[in-house]
Amino acid sequence: MTRTRKKSAKKRTLYDARYLESRLAQLPPAFRDLFRDAYIGARKLRARADDAVAPPGLMDMVDRRCGEWSLHARPACSEGCAWCCMQDVLMAPFEFDAVREAIDSAGLGDRVRRNLAASDTGPTIHVDGRDLPVSPCPLLDDEHRCMIYTARPLACRTQFAMHAEKCQNAFEAARDGNADASYPRAGDPAVIGIAAREAMQANRRVFLRDQLRAHL
Ligand code: SF4
Repeated sequence: MTRTRKKSAKKRTLYDARYLESRLAQLPPAFRDLFRDAYIGARKLRARADDAVAPPGLMDMVDRRCGEWSLHARPACSEGCAWCCMQDVLMAPFEFDAVREAIDSAGLGDRVRRNLAASDTGPTIHVDGRDLPVSPCPLLDDEHRCMIYTARPLACRTQFAMHAEKCQNAFEAARDGNADASYPRAGDPAVIGIAAREAMQANRRVFLRDQLRAHL
């Protein structure tokens, strides 16, 4: 009896099952397993990490789940294809800690500042009351590879496309001022990133370029 009580108390503190069930009900059925597994996986890591905001292993867990999905889905994404990196990145504040650490430890500050200044003069697209850049992410190198790849935010890790040319077309349409331009829907693993963020209870969102401007 005592053991059962202890076990259920532990289960309750890991995550709120009612919240998870109501959240799953808002998602299309095809996304539910991806969301559930990532949410529970992230909550377990968070529970083990005491006070850490972003527990070690969170990004590895997200990568592992995206990798499992990719094995079956075979997305078109490959190194050097960076059409989806031509926009700003929305993320939880805790995600920027790793980005900043990666920039500092690789001595990339000056280069990123130069890239940021160049991207500020590029074209923008008006989305949700805000002018968003349609230009290379300041963290891309000359070969269109992410300079902080292992520390990239959740939105970047979970962005997959089945046809690279659709991403290219979307970028070119946005750059040319087509008001209807929009990137193809991020692949199914986008819900893995959303689940991980919600498991961290990170409701506030910030833009990557704003964070770079404020902290570099
Ligand atoms: S952080 Fe890296 S992966 Fe994400 S948009 Fe920038 S260059 Fe691309």
